Amino acid sequence: MTSAQNPLTPEPISLGRWTSNLETPARALAIGAHPDDVDFGCGATLAKWATAGCEVSVLVCTDGSKGTWDPTTDETQLIATRKVEQQAAAERLGATGNVVFLGYTDGELESGLVQRARVSEWIRRLRPTVVLGHDPWKRYRLHPDHRHAGLLTTEGVVAARDPKFFPDQLAPSTGLAHHRPDTILLWEADEPDHVEDVTGYAETKFAALLAHQSQFESTMKATSDAQMEAFRERMVAKLVAGGRAASFEHAEVFKLLDDL
Ligand SMILES: [Zn+2]
Repeated sequence: MTSAQNPLTPEPISLGRWTSNLETPARALAIGAHPDDVDFGCGATLAKWATAGCEVSVLVCTDGSKGTWDPTTDETQLIATRKVEQQAAAERLGATGNVVFLGYTDGELESGLVQRARVSEWIRRLRPTVVLGHDPWKRYRLHPDHRHAGLLTTEGVVAARDPKFFPDQLAPSTGLAHHRPDTILLWEADEPDHVEDVTGYAETKFAALLAHQSQFESTMKATSDAQMEAFRERMVAKLVAGGRAASFEHAEVFKLLDDL
């Protein structure tokens, strides 16, 4: 069996169609389904941009109320905890913008017109140069919230950019104007084609993830120091793998859309 036939041997990525390292955006908005998704998906990139002066905002679509394996957990308390954790994580990334919670029930997110309008309104309010989110077209993705959050990201941009969409948001009393971001970056991408060098930001990303203490058991699979170190090593290994094709020590990879 040649390496080309062996599914365990990754094929080298052709750099021909890849791009790397956007110019630091003035404002970035990262949209995640749950508290912690943004930090997993693009935490190091946001930290790099924040250090360079980008105003970073985070929008979380759901309330995170299913984020536990303990059926006796008080949901109201968990929702409050996860908000505090997400705000702490954003601070650790250096985010100076808004941390927004849409508050839809975890596991029941939909990408209908009502939800799209709310995302559009936040894009018009925050006016990001770059919007980051889940790839809604990732094959075999199981979690519906991630798919719907990805659709809300891309469809929210489509709505925000044109004045005929949700025109009530643009009434003079609102002070809002339609807004067209320059670029969308989708993490966990089905067909990644863009790499951000995040060398030097792995520990900042890890620190942000550590803010999500309620998720240590269910998401990080880490209830001991040794397991947390193993989680850190898995996180760093992913950054190393992301950077290999472009010869960056650590990188996060995305699908880039810039024909907006
Ligand atoms: Zn999630």
